[in-house]
Amino acid sequence: MLENMFARLEEIYPELVELRRDFHMYPELSNTEVETPKKIAAYLEKLGLEVRTGVGGRGVVATLKGGKPGRAVALRADFDALPIHEETDVPFKSRVPGVMHACGHDLHTAALLGVAKVLTEHRDDIPGTVKFIHQFAEEVTPGGAEPMIKDGALDGVDVIYGAHVMSTEEFGTLSVKEGYFSAAQDDFNITIYGKGGHGNQPHLTIDPIVTGSQLVVSLQQIVSRRVNPLQGAALTVGSFHSGEGNNVIPDTAVIRGTVRTFDEEARTVIEEALKSVTESTCAANGAGVNLEYVKDCPSIYNNPEETKQVLEVAKGLFGEENLFTDAPMMGSEDFAYYTKEIPAVYFTVGGRSEELNAVYPHHHPKFNIDERAIVNIGKMFVSLVTK
Ligand code: MN
Repeated sequence: MLENMFARLEEIYPELVELRRDFHMYPELSNTEVETPKKIAAYLEKLGLEVRTGVGGRGVVATLKGGKPGRAVALRADFDALPIHEETDVPFKSRVPGVMHACGHDLHTAALLGVAKVLTEHRDDIPGTVKFIHQFAEEVTPGGAEPMIKDGALDGVDVIYGAHVMSTEEFGTLSVKEGYFSAAQDDFNITIYGKGGHGNQPHLTIDPIVTGSQLVVSLQQIVSRRVNPLQGAALTVGSFHSGEGNNVIPDTAVIRGTVRTFDEEARTVIEEALKSVTESTCAANGAGVNLEYVKDCPSIYNNPEETKQVLEVAKGLFGEENLFTDAPMMGSEDFAYYTKEIPAVYFTVGGRSEELNAVYPHHHPKFNIDERAIVNIGKMFVSLVTK
């Protein structure tokens, strides 16, 4: 049956390319998607699936009940585009100025629609239930994953899989790693309240620049001295603004930065240390402070047992020499929210091709991708559903 489904994926590949190119020509920004979810829902309804639209806002969820007993598997693809003006010369270039599918979400969507079609055609032989989760707004915070989960997208689901095509990984490869697989992102904004005055009478002021400088240096010790060295982390101050003149001590200083972690433990350690170091440094200098600590996307956690299964399937499809299992992805990805709820695996599929000039990184105006990755994602998904 699996061989038949693979053959069918190859057979409908031209149709899936056409779908992908249509999404590519008419991209829609995160949280403004209107036509894209309509097209997705229409395709799934035509297959005869039970379709829910407006899930968590703009998401689309379709359910396929297989003819055999089995677990409930969810497959997720995102469908939003980016505020980038496309600079490629492909014939299906974006028709919307300033908006582009520069991350491959158009390809994810076409692949998942193809999987829905092939699985539906074989529904009598499909074990359990398959939920097709088409997610809006992956590129922004807050994204679409959380509201879709709150709106029941994962209800009754035993395991969820997600995939991302990568222009930085050679076509025909697959990367996955058990445990933490993407970085969590948190941001902080610190406002230090001193007391301004003349630069020649510092004893009558509380200098927020000196306090802030001391704070920036102290923050460097959090990753080096507080975090377990086996748990990677980055804490960066990216902005420090205060003052205008040579001889004026200003009232305030504003410091902004970002924190990236993999382990939830490191994430908590950094948040707590950052709060206490900030408060104590400011207090020691007699300054007031306001700290805003914004927890954005957590890190993806790949269930170890399920990851082994994914690797086994991938080995059969791509060969062991084309599997990469060492490094997590450095970006953050809101698939992480699903992985906090149920067993989940997120993997990346190669889409780089010199021949097609598909060599630019994601979110680049010349981003391009090898569309044959549609079939590779498709084969992974149908194998995982039927295994
Ligand atoms: Mn993406």
